[in-house]
Amino acid sequence: MSILTSNPSNPPRPILTGLRCRCPGCGQGKLFSGFLTLAKRCDRCGLDLSFADPADGPAFFVMSGVGGVVMTLFAILEIQVHPPIWVHFVSTFPLLLVGCLGTLRPVKAWLVASQYYFKAEEGRWASIGKHGEGGFCFDRRKESDRRARLAAAREAAADGL
Ligand SMILES: [Zn+2]
Repeated sequence: MSILTSNPSNPPRPILTGLRCRCPGCGQGKLFSGFLTLAKRCDRCGLDLSFADPADGPAFFVMSGVGGVVMTLFAILEIQVHPPIWVHFVSTFPLLLVGCLGTLRPVKAWLVASQYYFKAEEGRWASIGKHGEGGFCFDRRKESDRRARLAAAREAAADGL
């Protein structure tokens, strides 16, 4: 089943279903069958979730967001207080761990819901073969021959006058 045939007319907002880790189609069913493993289908509406492919997106956003915030706090703590290293082991490291693991699921669910909501899919080049002779493979030899013929015709016309 494709994403289009299972698309209800009015899906819930991606941020709402994402934060709750729910099905992007109905907003009720569970999206995950494991910690980060997506379910094959929604257990409520039967939406086929095979379209979902957020790839490295969730890890990137979580790593960038949580890393930026926690490293800023780390820098402030280090500059202002300059505590012993064990303070960072009990504060900075757990904050990174909890922050990343705590936000990874909702961010992945939000990206999957956004993919569904905005009907995002792999790009297709509809214009291939529609750019005239040669398409993207522009043949420079033909073009130089055409220019040479035009120049010869102009010279012949100029000589004729
Ligand atoms: Zn559903």
